Amino acid sequence: MTKVLVATDKPFAKVAVDGIKRIIEEAGFELVLLEKYTEKKQLLDAVKDANAIIIRSDIIDAEVLDAAKELKIVVRAGAGYDNVDLAAATAHNVCVMNTPGQNSNAVAELVLGMLVYLNRNLFNGTSGAELMGKKLGILAYGNVGRNVARIAKGFGMDVYAYDQFVSAANIEKEGVKPVASRDALFETCDIVSLHIPKTPETVKSINAELLAKMPKGGCLINTARQEVIDEESICKFMAERTDFKYATDIKPANDAEMAKFEGRYFATPKKMGAQTAEANINAGLAAANQIVDFIKNGNEKFRVNK
Ligand code: NAD
Repeated sequence: MTKVLVATDKPFAKVAVDGIKRIIEEAGFELVLLEKYTEKKQLLDAVKDANAIIIRSDIIDAEVLDAAKELKIVVRAGAGYDNVDLAAATAHNVCVMNTPGQNSNAVAELVLGMLVYLNRNLFNGTSGAELMGKKLGILAYGNVGRNVARIAKGFGMDVYAYDQFVSAANIEKEGVKPVASRDALFETCDIVSLHIPKTPETVKSINAELLAKMPKGGCLINTARQEVIDEESICKFMAERTDFKYATDIKPANDAEMAKFEGRYFATPKKMGAQTAEANINAGLAAANQIVDFIKNGNEKFRVNK
């Protein structure tokens, strides 16, 4: 019988585990749980006869793959998969997938929450600004960017987007205004929300030079990755441009220094974008469904080690 191991040192919520179990058992497979393990040896023992594994931020390296002689597929319940050694998985003929899009609404809701908080001066009792009618620029129109656009329209915002790999026509047909370049997005919009992935091209790409293109009272929201920000440059920029506001879901290395921009800077204490019960459940169920579809039908749609 096909054996599916859920190996999570930080377990899914019970309701997610129950859902995963139902999907796996309805497919005629067996579910094995390894939760809150404290030593790698426990993982190495558990993977021995597993045909499929669902993980969260658990590490799947060459040693684990060596021990997992029957393994066909690993699914990371979540978007990022840098905790899996993709080259080793490919060498072991193991398919690796993630579950993209399952936490997008969670991140997008946080973006709007952060925007309200920032524009009401961190709820410090002083008069703030409204979002209705403001120009919101979405940098990268992927899963999160699209959800931000959907919610922002409900706030009455004027929504613009730029994505290097999504055509203007595809952006426009969703009722969002496409702009021709990244720089044009910053020139046009009062608020820019970052949704670019970390790539060699995007690392440290958000800097003072770019922010200087924004109108007075500009505002930047980062729920993407810490590495895309040139932190030193932004800190200098905010010292000069006392009208500029910045909020981030990924605490910068210079957080203590940034804290001097009282009332117009904040970082969430811990990355919170995907931290919702719903996102946790969605990603777990998607992982279980993807495993069933892969084993029964060979569907490799979400494979990341092509
Ligand atoms: P996604 O893959 O669905 O979308 C990414 C988009 O970026 C794609 O449309 C792609 O075409 C575009 N893109 C790539 N390079 C670009 C570039 N140089 N310029 C413009 N566009 C570019 O990803 P997503 O699910 O929307 O996630 C976006 C980012 O948010 C990721 O970096 C991810 O790490 C981050 N994220 C953060 C949290 C959190 O907890 N804060 C949670 C989930 C995702």
